[in-house]
Amino acid sequence: MKSIDRRTLLKAIAGLGGAGVIGSFFPFNVMALTGERRGIFEYPSFKINPFQLGVASGDPATDGFVIWTRLAPEPLAEHAGMNMVPIRVSWDVAEDPNFKKIVLSGKTVAAPELGHSVHVEVEGLKPNREYWYRFNCGGEKSLYGRSKTLPLAGSSVDKIKFAVAGCQSIEHGYYTAWNHIANEDLDFVFHYGDYIYEYKDHGIGPVPNRGQLWQEMRQTVGQEIYSIEDYRRRYALYKLDINLQRAHAAAPWFVSFDDHEIDNNWASDTDQDGSPAHIFQFRKAMAFQAYYENMPLRLSSLPMNNEIKLYRSAQYGNLLNAFILDTRQYRSDQVAGGSKALNKVKATFSDKRTMLGEAQEKWLFKGLENSDTKWNLLAQQVLIGHLSYGQDSAGQDLYGMDGWSGYLHSRRRLLNQIEKHGLGRTVIVSGDSHRHYACDLMQDNDDKVIASEFLATSITSGMDGSMQDDFTNTINQLNPHLKATVNKRGYTLCTVTPEYWQADLKIVDKVMTPDSPIQTYRSFVLEQGKAGMKQV
Ligand code: FE
Ligand code: CA
Repeated sequence: MKSIDRRTLLKAIAGLGGAGVIGSFFPFNVMALTGERRGIFEYPSFKINPFQLGVASGDPATDGFVIWTRLAPEPLAEHAGMNMVPIRVSWDVAEDPNFKKIVLSGKTVAAPELGHSVHVEVEGLKPNREYWYRFNCGGEKSLYGRSKTLPLAGSSVDKIKFAVAGCQSIEHGYYTAWNHIANEDLDFVFHYGDYIYEYKDHGIGPVPNRGQLWQEMRQTVGQEIYSIEDYRRRYALYKLDINLQRAHAAAPWFVSFDDHEIDNNWASDTDQDGSPAHIFQFRKAMAFQAYYENMPLRLSSLPMNNEIKLYRSAQYGNLLNAFILDTRQYRSDQVAGGSKALNKVKATFSDKRTMLGEAQEKWLFKGLENSDTKWNLLAQQVLIGHLSYGQDSAGQDLYGMDGWSGYLHSRRRLLNQIEKHGLGRTVIVSGDSHRHYACDLMQDNDDKVIASEFLATSITSGMDGSMQDDFTNTINQLNPHLKATVNKRGYTLCTVTPEYWQADLKIVDKVMTPDSPIQTYRSFVLEQGKAGMKQV
């Protein structure tokens, strides 16, 4: 059984009934989540349309993708206003947005155990084309979404376009940038994490924050989140945003979480407060479940046994291999908080410490070794550029301990592997820093450029920001391989062709007032086969 991966296994159980031997692998019967069950409410009636949280699609394959929704007529009420019974939901996939040519239809169940979320893994579609999907429940209709299947592996692909975004504290501003992402014509969106923030409601009214006076833009609900109902309600609050809903409906997404979906700066079985692992695991289980419920993920990402499998890959013909990574769940604990001089934190060099965990690292390294596409994309959470954030009184550079600079042995192993198997064709995208960074990547800031990183700024976290500030000046001075940085909100837009990779650092002027126009702060191009970015 060991040679079968979990996805195949789950598919076999879900689709075909599975053999008796499988029972011993799982603590519950997966059939019950996907197959028929008793007591299904076939024709529920709603006072309010239950599709208040929109629709989404994700994890495309060459013949399909996941379509997602969650029934929530009153999203912030107890049980989101739902009767706690399993409910019938039907769905359509069409070749046109008017649903004149419906190619697939089906029925599924929104289970109360899973917060009445719906995940359908659509199969049997044609490769490399757009589709539209919608849901129906008790005569109530959802809006429609657009998705896209992958091109066949090896087929020739001229161009793909995708956006990288995340860090969307709802208290910090409006999701103007998501609206602009929805207006781009994209093959996919990568969400690097911080989809929600777990903090308690900070309250209405101006409070000091990072030296800036700010007005809480939109009020979160309740205290810091711990229970499944807390997490569900927080997702519901965020997902009520129409700009976010538009971006979900516009393109398939690959999602991976960072820290705030669970707890600030958590690592593996450790939370930021040092709670015992067996206690933190209860919170993690709640957070993982709510994440699964609210994202367009496949059954292979169903949380079980203290794990949610989020690292996975997708191939865009002969053009791109995309590796979606998880830098939170398997990492060693941070050696220290904040920024530190490396001579004070020798443990960052230890080969015992890991950013990806053994299994994920093996999988990624094998993937890079076998990749024969023009480009590789590593889509992950935290800064890999080894950037000095300042200097201590002894003139030593200070590095962030939550990013790859706090895991320097892992970083070296990764860059070694890229140098061997992906030199001149590997680009890393990331997030978490709440500002744009474009930088070339070298071993411990040696001279040889091995790969390049575009770290996408936040959608809202950090509020309006500014074009110039002291920190920007400092890091520009200290880091010659840093090509651009700016403390504004927005996203990164990547256009990939066989010849070049262009990254546009998109910014909006304001997020504390709605409807700012979008502009490009800087654009960079990489030529296929040549390491290092150039500004255009
Ligand atoms: Fe963040
Ligand atoms: Ca973060």
